[in-house]
Amino acid sequence: MSFSDKFHLRIPGPTPVPARVMQAMQKPMIGHRSGEASSLYLECSAKLKLVFGTKTDPLLLSSSGTGALEAAVVNTVSPGEEAVVVVTGAFGDRFAKIVQKYGITLHRLDLPWGKACDPDLLASFLRQHPAAKAVFFTYCETSTGVLNPVRELAQSVREHSDALVIADGVSCLGAVPCKMDEWGIDIMVTGSQKALMLPPGLAFAAVSQRAWKQIEQNPTPRFYLDLLAYRKNLEKETTPYTPALSLLYGLAEALAMLEEEGLPRVFARHERLKTMTRAGIKALGLELMTSDADASPTVTSVYGGREKWEAETLRKELRALGVGVAGGQQHLKGKIFRIGHMGYCDELDILTVLSALEIALIKTGVPVELGSGVKAAQEVMLHV
Ligand SMILES: *Cc1c(COP(=O)(O)O)cnc(C)c1O
Repeated sequence: MSFSDKFHLRIPGPTPVPARVMQAMQKPMIGHRSGEASSLYLECSAKLKLVFGTKTDPLLLSSSGTGALEAAVVNTVSPGEEAVVVVTGAFGDRFAKIVQKYGITLHRLDLPWGKACDPDLLASFLRQHPAAKAVFFTYCETSTGVLNPVRELAQSVREHSDALVIADGVSCLGAVPCKMDEWGIDIMVTGSQKALMLPPGLAFAAVSQRAWKQIEQNPTPRFYLDLLAYRKNLEKETTPYTPALSLLYGLAEALAMLEEEGLPRVFARHERLKTMTRAGIKALGLELMTSDADASPTVTSVYGGREKWEAETLRKELRALGVGVAGGQQHLKGKIFRIGHMGYCDELDILTVLSALEIALIKTGVPVELGSGVKAAQEVMLHV
């Protein structure tokens, strides 16, 4: 790699930030209680509603994504109460850990990593735990590249329980459809550094009326993450504490980009990027971690080989070529690598990754035919 600024960051977050978003973040600082800050906030909020598929204003937190995950837990369920967490990978596991930390009784529905949760399975699990106050699950499970069927999961919860439906959309909102009001999702959270094309530092939580009732009655002590404070300040078109204003400028620009492309086309692009990536990987004879049906449009996990060192050696070769892909988390460390293809990513970026992957495979002693993965992806590009 000769130019560090040309590094191809293809991990599932943080993701590359477009030049116009970077530029927007250079604006001079403003007062956080100024009219300018309010209109910036309202402009972002109006466009974010479309990303979430909600009529309510998403609340803005200055934190990483986990801050919004923790807010979703601490505001809705109190110690001693029960919650169900669907764990399809490392991020479902994070929800479970937060729930446990707060002394909430955890009912954990574990699925094999690499598989999506079946709504009927969740239904029968809920019948065993009728006292659950909330059900938490992950929309895109970033650690495996699974997209859970959140619409059907939400429906399942609504049919079998009074629990709130809470979803983590950090690694897919802005890249896949979300209609939280229509689907019956009570809290949807996301963060800035994945499909929204921004640096890390902002998180969002959209909250339903049903959830607000539970939040108002929840006695758990909380301060920075007290969503009631965010709702109260929203009425005054502001946030309770100083938000990351530069990131807000960037957000307005990133949301303008999504608006210009049009959300349906943004979603179609991500579908195409997924299909191209998977076609390329298959053509190279490598093994995908998820089925076509469960695969997320934002991240693809690939087995790195039979030996533990193989995935890591491959990642090292790719890094030397100027391409960054992610490794596995928890027990998948050293076993898989993950290609992020969300946000500021287009078809030619996928061809670049596959092309570099072919070279890296050959360098690590895996005999593949040069161009075979790229060709398969090009064919998708031409015909899909
Ligand atoms: C990235 C991510 C998060 C948040 O991680 P932070 O490092 O706190 O921003 C949460 N959930 C999922 C599914 C993610 O991919």
